[in-house]
Amino acid sequence: MDKPAICGGSPVRETKIFYGHQYIDDADIQAVVDVLKSDYLTCGPKISELEEKLCDLTGAKYAVACSNGTAALHLACMAAGVCKGDEVITTPITFAASANCALYCGARPVFADINEETFNIDPKSVEILTGEKTKAVVAVDFTGQSAELDSLLTHCRKHGLVLIEDGAHVIGTKYNGKWNGSISDMTTLSFHPVKTVTGGEGGAVLTDNEEYYQKLLLYRTHGITRDPELMEHEIDGPWYYEQVALGMNYRMTDMQAALVISQLNKLSVFSKRRKEIVKAYDEAFGRLPQVILQKEIPESDTTRHLYILRLNLSKLKIDRKQFFEALGAENICCNVHYIPVYYFPYYEKLGYKKGLCPKAEKLYEEIISLPLYYAMTDQDVQDVIKAVTKIAVYYAADEL
Ligand SMILES: *Cc1c(COP(=O)(O)O)cnc(C)c1O
Repeated sequence: MDKPAICGGSPVRETKIFYGHQYIDDADIQAVVDVLKSDYLTCGPKISELEEKLCDLTGAKYAVACSNGTAALHLACMAAGVCKGDEVITTPITFAASANCALYCGARPVFADINEETFNIDPKSVEILTGEKTKAVVAVDFTGQSAELDSLLTHCRKHGLVLIEDGAHVIGTKYNGKWNGSISDMTTLSFHPVKTVTGGEGGAVLTDNEEYYQKLLLYRTHGITRDPELMEHEIDGPWYYEQVALGMNYRMTDMQAALVISQLNKLSVFSKRRKEIVKAYDEAFGRLPQVILQKEIPESDTTRHLYILRLNLSKLKIDRKQFFEALGAENICCNVHYIPVYYFPYYEKLGYKKGLCPKAEKLYEEIISLPLYYAMTDQDVQDVIKAVTKIAVYYAADEL
């Protein structure tokens, strides 16, 4: 049996591979340089070009580009009217921003448990937690697989809740044949370098709702408007504008927008490659009893942003941490997505306690995010498969 590097064997590969990496080509670089040579570094033509492209791509009516995915979530909560005293239901298996956006608005995040097979927010848990104070649901398309939008939308319509989809992972995915971004009341995107499409930083909110759209525009720029229809005082002169609400500066630069536009031109090849890698992993790991594959709902045609290896700990002699470290010794540098949000000290101090979402907590103990990105070579993919198989087989429990 092949000896793991962590106990003195030779590693599967000599150089480290990480769980994610951006892919930037000459067209991307040229697109940014062109903006730098132009008249507008911000508030220029690239912003509306990107917004139109996102609408064309997803079928959403409106898109509002902004500084990052977190800003997009905050804007969406503001547009939804989330405020002090409200509750916003989300999942704990996500990046903190999906819950922080409620806190920014003075509302309280409420954590729903996950479906243990898909790892996405469980609509039944959302139903149970919905009460008088519930204002919105922030559903995360975890790993890029669409959340169960049909059930969630039906539930939100019934109770007058706003469905905000945290689509930071979801670009390139379709739900029931429609692009994610054209289904929920608002969908937020992130263009962080580790996501499928990047702008360095960047985000966007997609919506079909004109009222939300106008609010998103206003809150993106300080609550300041030049639209005479929104003004309350008499127009003082051609220079005149008014601040009519308290907004932020959540604008994206034109350099970022140009980079995102150029990256979006490659979305179908990005998507194809990610699907190939996921298929190779699924085929290889499907044969290992020490591993449980993430279940795909038939409604979701998924471009996976993350590949989650879930360990079947009853079939292993080691735990997640030891498995993680063993992969690291093979030079496969992984990550864990995510630590349940309410485990963090900040949330603890707000009164959240362990035990809230048992399925999410169990999942957290068993997961490792493997390398998954466009620029991985076939050799990289084989190395990851070889390393996972090596560790799983070497540390298999005596009785499988
Ligand atoms: C990345 C991410 C965000 C935040 O996006 P930023 O662009 O980094 O601010 C929010 N939610 C999820 C699920 C994410 O993965």
